[in-house]
Amino acid sequence: MIHAIRTPSGQRRFDINSYVPGTKPNRKTKASSKNVKTTDDESTLRQIAKGVVQYAQQILLQKLFPYPPALQLGVEKLQAFCVMQNKTQPQGVPDFLSNWGELPIKDWTIEINSPEEWKDVRFIEDQKPSGFCIELDGSYINEADRIQNEVMEEVFKKSAENPSLYVEFRRLLVTHPVITKGDLDVKSVLELKPLQKVLEDSYEEAPVSYKKQGKFYCCGYCGGLMHRTADNQLKCENKHCNKQRKESVPFECDKDDEVLWLKKGLRYFVHRPGCAELRIEKRMKELELEVTLYPDCDKYDLHIVFPDKTVWAVDVKFWESAYNLAHSVNEPIPKLPHQPYNEAFFVFADEIKEYGDEYIQEFINHCPVQFKKSQVMFEDTFIQEVEKKLIRCQSLTI
Ligand SMILES: [Zn+2]
Repeated sequence: MIHAIRTPSGQRRFDINSYVPGTKPNRKTKASSKNVKTTDDESTLRQIAKGVVQYAQQILLQKLFPYPPALQLGVEKLQAFCVMQNKTQPQGVPDFLSNWGELPIKDWTIEINSPEEWKDVRFIEDQKPSGFCIELDGSYINEADRIQNEVMEEVFKKSAENPSLYVEFRRLLVTHPVITKGDLDVKSVLELKPLQKVLEDSYEEAPVSYKKQGKFYCCGYCGGLMHRTADNQLKCENKHCNKQRKESVPFECDKDDEVLWLKKGLRYFVHRPGCAELRIEKRMKELELEVTLYPDCDKYDLHIVFPDKTVWAVDVKFWESAYNLAHSVNEPIPKLPHQPYNEAFFVFADEIKEYGDEYIQEFINHCPVQFKKSQVMFEDTFIQEVEKKLIRCQSLTI
């Protein structure tokens, strides 16, 4: 039993002197104790991730206190782990946020039972929740799912005769992660009228704190809104964009117009992979292949038809953690009844190509759906496979 003490600031601390080894919760009594412990550690990390993400949202609203309960409780559990292992504990939430959270988990000095891949990840990067943290928390993906479902509902209700509406909606989100209220109004009236309400719900006011000298800037690579780091540098929320070393672009708009950006779930789970999806679409068109984005209202991402009528289906993913991604996939890519695919592929955006073969293997190992190694690859390998297949088609017709 460890006694908790409360510090003057209201922080709970665990008193290491009150810990008597052997009296910890009866973990050792069951044969399955290892599994129980794994779940425990993993669920604590999940809780911390949830807390960090909630706190980041709170900060955008300039509301520093109180800390979200998930963050408080998660850090307290972490403190308890430290005490049980007789190691230095984080001195409460502020210490976790400014020190522990920025370190890879393997440097926490305590033993944490978690997937191997998690040992190198951090919860916080550039004072923001890392991609790993966002994926572990899951609330972004829930938000993206909710908005997607609403779009579907509207599309089915109001425009069954216009299936391209869904595609145009997704394309707009990918090509316009930042938009003025005026432009959004025009688009929603002229091009996407049935989806006007969902469109409004997809964007929110861009955070004023992201302005530099009174101006918003967009990432020269992905077009996303740039934020300012502690040393006043502009940085894209997607850390992989920095490697591209593209000049940031000032966002020009009318002084009185409101600047909007995509809601967090859509930025992460629609815009990020969407850039790769549109890149692949563009390349397929250059190769004069028949390509459809998000066929049958998003059964998968790209439907490609070769001259010999072979059909390839592609799902594009852009996740930091192959382990977390693997656990989010629970069924094989579905077939379109009217034009079933011959081959299906899982393609990872080139931005994370440096994660290499290990990432692919980690995904295959942990995914409950069985994939062959030849079905899972990075974007550039996929493009090469398409080109090879196309050459085979052409040599047959000569
Ligand atoms: Zn970017």
